[in-house]
Amino acid sequence: MLLVRGGVVVAMDEVRRVIHGGAVLIEGDRIRAIGDAGTLGSVPGITRTIVADRHILLPGLINAHNHAFQTLYRGLGRDRSLADWSTRTIFPLSRGLGRAEVRAGALLACLEMLTTGTTTFVDSHYIHCDPETFDGLAEAVVTSGLRAVLGRAAVDGPVVPEPFRETPFDAARRAEEAIARWHGAASGRLRVRPEALSERTATPALIKAMSEVGRRLGTGFNMHLAESQPAVAHVRETAGCSPLELLEGLKATGPDVLIAHAVWLEETDLEILARTGTRVAHNPVSNQYLAVGIAPVARMLAHGAVVGLGTGGAASNNSLDMFGVMKSCGLLQKVSAGDAAILPAERILAMGTVDGARALGLQDEVGSLEPGKKADLIAVRVDRPEMVPLHSVYESLVYSAAAAAVDTVVVDGRVLVDGGRVTSLDVSAVLAEAASVGDRLRRQAGLG
Ligand SMILES: [Zn+2]
Repeated sequence: MLLVRGGVVVAMDEVRRVIHGGAVLIEGDRIRAIGDAGTLGSVPGITRTIVADRHILLPGLINAHNHAFQTLYRGLGRDRSLADWSTRTIFPLSRGLGRAEVRAGALLACLEMLTTGTTTFVDSHYIHCDPETFDGLAEAVVTSGLRAVLGRAAVDGPVVPEPFRETPFDAARRAEEAIARWHGAASGRLRVRPEALSERTATPALIKAMSEVGRRLGTGFNMHLAESQPAVAHVRETAGCSPLELLEGLKATGPDVLIAHAVWLEETDLEILARTGTRVAHNPVSNQYLAVGIAPVARMLAHGAVVGLGTGGAASNNSLDMFGVMKSCGLLQKVSAGDAAILPAERILAMGTVDGARALGLQDEVGSLEPGKKADLIAVRVDRPEMVPLHSVYESLVYSAAAAAVDTVVVDGRVLVDGGRVTSLDVSAVLAEAASVGDRLRRQAGLG
């Protein structure tokens, strides 16, 4: 058994246990106990002890929305609107994406997430001419040791260049193939969900086809929704309703459905969220980067919606740092509500951990430090200037902590970052390969 002995254990369980001088005992891939370090230290059968007494131990962060391949495009979409960013940056660059390129970008994404405290992420894998690119993504996740819900996304709308489009029939068939190959792989660390990219890039027929695959196979379904005002206007013009009403009409809402962004929701949409239990991934940094607006997160929560937090892809963030996302989430809601107390830090940390797990349907497995759950945890150093004095763990984790303060990461009981050293990946090789592939794609796309 592995004992991680921490200074402060922040469990994020139902009663929000905070244990000073605490520890987490891990047996195999599961948490066996949390409690007092002295008591757990005397349990027989401990084969390794990680001393993390200058740390906060907390559940690994859950990034509820990412596009791993976009690490290769980091910095190339600067100062563009969402529509411009898609057509002038993402589409031209993505023509060169094959299995090897996606694998290189995804390994870089996994490395960045691991070293900044994310243990589970949701990926939206879209805009590819080659179905095998999904395998490159899945291979990278397996190698990295991370846990992930991989969205096998498809597009068929006229705004998307022809080589990227798939018919609803082909997309559904390939999504089923991806699920057969990867759903449950790596001892259950991988999950696969079908995804229709967004209301502008996917026709209602594609949304219906992909959501039906998710329902039939019990995987759930993902989609970008109401990210921008033009996206909402498109649905109003073509279907005469809001994007969420369109989804409800297609029977594509529910607790097994995760919508990314949901920036532009009407009051009636908030009621649909509450009534159907549809989950939301909020991406405050990406929303600011692309200037799409401020999602009504506090109002969603007031309606009882389950909201997780995501980075969005590295081409609209431009990092995969969930600590930055949590801080941005809090600041944006304070400013938009004109109320400094609108969203307490404890609630924001819940969105980055236990609520994120609920958003993904993984609440029985991860999101909090509790006996029986998967052993996914991180240790954040507190012997750093920004963490002293430690008056409030929640305030410090959300508003002060630097991602670089994470020096220990455990996923599925495996120590993937051990005192700052990454054990599952060859760091220099991952960096060199991604830099080289990124350069090549940029040149091929004629972007300098
Ligand atoms: Zn996205």
